[in-house]
Amino acid sequence: MNCPRCDKVMTQVHLEGTEAQQCPQCEGHWLEGEHLRQLESTVNVRLIEWRTLPSQEVQTRELACPRCPPRLVMKKVRSERDQHVLLDVCERCHGVWLDGGELRAIQEMGFVAALADAVRFITRD
Ligand SMILES: [Zn+2]
Ligand SMILES: [Zn+2]
Repeated sequence: MNCPRCDKVMTQVHLEGTEAQQCPQCEGHWLEGEHLRQLESTVNVRLIEWRTLPSQEVQTRELACPRCPPRLVMKKVRSERDQHVLLDVCERCHGVWLDGGELRAIQEMGFVAALADAVRFITRD
């Protein structure tokens, strides 16, 4: 699977007892539904290195889901708890894209809480 932002091939990484795909260039992560649910049950989340959050302009650029057919654009979900956190959520496969810097921002606000925002979004009608 390729990074929705850079189009580099992502590699599978272990992330707090579950699995994610990580882009070697932008360090963003791709998480899918069942893995999100595994993370929800993780209590003590420590996450990875952080450089900077992407610019607002980069964050708000539309991204196509890396899993689904070409050019299926993901929805932007801004966290209710931290306005700096903008998640890209696919309504079809329920995958979630996190930019590299978002991991740090999310860690500070509570990773599970941030993902809960995304999960609520994709599970409501
Ligand atoms: Zn990337
Ligand atoms: Zn998708």
